Amino acid sequence: MTLHTGRHFLQIPGPTNVPDRVLRAMDMPNMDHRGPEFAELGHAVLAGIKRIFRTKQPVIIYPSSGTGAWEAAIVNTLSPGDKVLMAETGQFAVLWRNMADRFKLDVEFLPTDWRRGADVGQIEAKLAADRQHTIKAVMVVHNETSTSCVTHPLEVRKALDRAKHPALFMVDTISGLASLEYEHDAWGIDVSVCGSQKGMMLPAGLGFNAISEKALAASKTNRGMRSYWDWAEMIANNKLGTFPYTPATNLLFALKEAIAMLEEEGLDNVFARHIRHGSATRAAVKAWGLDLVCLDPHCYSPALTAVMVPEGHDADALRKVVLENFDMSLGAGLGKIKGKAFRIGHIGHLNGLMLMGTLAGVEMGLDLANIPHRSGGVQAAMDVLKARDVASVPKSKVAIA
Ligand SMILES: *Cc1c(COP(=O)(O)O)cnc(C)c1O
Repeated sequence: MTLHTGRHFLQIPGPTNVPDRVLRAMDMPNMDHRGPEFAELGHAVLAGIKRIFRTKQPVIIYPSSGTGAWEAAIVNTLSPGDKVLMAETGQFAVLWRNMADRFKLDVEFLPTDWRRGADVGQIEAKLAADRQHTIKAVMVVHNETSTSCVTHPLEVRKALDRAKHPALFMVDTISGLASLEYEHDAWGIDVSVCGSQKGMMLPAGLGFNAISEKALAASKTNRGMRSYWDWAEMIANNKLGTFPYTPATNLLFALKEAIAMLEEEGLDNVFARHIRHGSATRAAVKAWGLDLVCLDPHCYSPALTAVMVPEGHDADALRKVVLENFDMSLGAGLGKIKGKAFRIGHIGHLNGLMLMGTLAGVEMGLDLANIPHRSGGVQAAMDVLKARDVASVPKSKVAIA
């Protein structure tokens, strides 16, 4: 039996810590999802989630994990044989690609070494060379949760525009939304895919598709098969504040509360907080003398930090020591960096002292697991946090913090 005295530290990059306010909001009896009281909730969350994606277009809410929302993006807009361009930024990009393969899409998968974002220059070159416009979609992962490398969606959008290519632009922002700056409309994104258990601070169980007019038009002419994931039925029902099948009502209560919390703090302050926590965490890693998985500072993730352990050492042994001694869960290395890296989640409902506890746990764990490192990481992170409190970060500094 595992005993928890005080709070368990859930410092994996999703599912993240659920705020007490959100837990209380979802503690409700079941209700009639065809009744008037439900429609009020339905309208409120359908309007609220648009403000989080920064879109005026429809956002579809599924009772699903993020993987379901990936599938919805594919089956609504694409059919077997369609050519798509994807970028191998890490394990989540690989999983989305595997799904595209199963739907018989013709995938061109542009490689990276898993230590940076997508190669935007290469994407642009492929688009420019595709004069017949056979590429139907460009699909990238915004915040690659396996490597803590960001691909900036606006840069990819600009590449599409420079190549004057009409492909749909689809972005997995499952661990990006509500922790990293995100603009569905202003960045010209056709389908944004998200899930509830990362930056949105909810339990798993809601999947989101934010869609553009162009994506909606593509779905209307797309003859590919789909039923459960069909946008058209969702949109028709959503106009009345209802859903075509039983929604995850209690998670919608939770969603309403999470949106209220994000808006009370202000989305720009949420983004600044994540940037600050990312900087503090990387300062700790640097002081420990360990390597970040991400080699390109332009791609550092504000949501989590993936850290390499030195050659010959086992990242999973470190995670085990930290869990057993300090009741803290850290993220495992995924895919080809399993055992070679661990991930510190600083996404979602978190403050500076929770981060300090997290980093203290990692530093003690490095000692106990006999992983070669220097001390002083916690101090280095404190120095970063002391230098900038939430209220005093001017907006213009946010981007370079
Ligand atoms: C978590 C995650 C997923 C998978 O979402 P599930 O809810 O586990 O299905 C996909 N992509 C990214 C970037 C993620 O972080």
